[in-house]
Amino acid sequence: MKHSKEPKALIEAIRYFSDPDICLQFLIPIVWPEGVTCPHCQAKGAHFIATRRIWRCKNRHDKQQFSIKVDTIFEDSPIPLDKWMVATWMIANCKNGISSCEVAKDLGITQKSAWFMLHRVRLAMHTGSFRKFGGNGGEVEADETFIGGKARNMHKSVKARRITGQGHNNIDKVIVMGVLERGGHVRA
Ligand SMILES: [Zn+2]
Repeated sequence: MKHSKEPKALIEAIRYFSDPDICLQFLIPIVWPEGVTCPHCQAKGAHFIATRRIWRCKNRHDKQQFSIKVDTIFEDSPIPLDKWMVATWMIANCKNGISSCEVAKDLGITQKSAWFMLHRVRLAMHTGSFRKFGGNGGEVEADETFIGGKARNMHKSVKARRITGQGHNNIDKVIVMGVLERGGHVRA
């Protein structure tokens, strides 16, 4: 039964995302499907500064250095990326839905922070992108690898069922699962 495996999977998800490099590798193709792109001038080929996990654009301009958080729902949040990723994972995988209470308890953050995260992550799932509205270039076209295309237009309860894998259609599963499975670290 899927139900009995869920807590174990959650622990594995927390462990998996606790490595900031794994977190980054996981997020790069979702945030930048076309490859790392400077959020200010849209140039490709930025230099990666591994020690700080940021990039430096090859063009000279203000804010030449940028992190993966720029223009995403994670921007201006003091919550580290690994917790964001686990919260995303929880929303995608808990079949009965999750409350900010549960997220706060599991991630060791305040309920207010958890509520804020849930709100943003749900919005991201709705739009199919971690991009914020109104960022440079506007809303990026929904990435089909993030949420199975059809899931976006489904009724909420159907969508929840599909996304958690209760339906027959695996295509509608969220990428969080797909990438985790590809990484070979976590299997729900
Ligand atoms: Zn640039």
